[in-house]
Amino acid sequence: MSEYQKPIPAITPAIAPFFAGAKRNELVIQKCTACGTYRFPPRDVCSNCLSSRSQWEKVSGEGEVFSYNIMHQVYHPGFAAEVPYAVVLVELKEGPRITSNLVGVPANEVRIGMPVKVVFEKLSDEVTLPKFARR
Ligand code: ZN
Repeated sequence: MSEYQKPIPAITPAIAPFFAGAKRNELVIQKCTACGTYRFPPRDVCSNCLSSRSQWEKVSGEGEVFSYNIMHQVYHPGFAAEVPYAVVLVELKEGPRITSNLVGVPANEVRIGMPVKVVFEKLSDEVTLPKFARR
């Protein structure tokens, strides 16, 4: 198996629970324990009620394409074999939006509102990336 050629996200303490969940093939999102609002990316303070209390919870992994962009330029050599490809903004059923990729969907078939579900791509023993597939 060849070495992974794309950039690998840096796992900072703030996002570590997200990637720990992904390693278990679970999508986990920070949730305010005061008002119940999910928030992603993680933040110290809830944008709904300003509470600093939160926990991480497993979510459904289901949502829909809220928006997308088709990449035609090769900005990193690791993506050269995949252009054109879609970068999607998925709105989860629980509310937060996640930037990701769709797997198994040609770029010209991506549509706003397309129902999707999370899938997991293991990059290494340390990093697994949540991505999305049509459902
Ligand atoms: Zn809140």
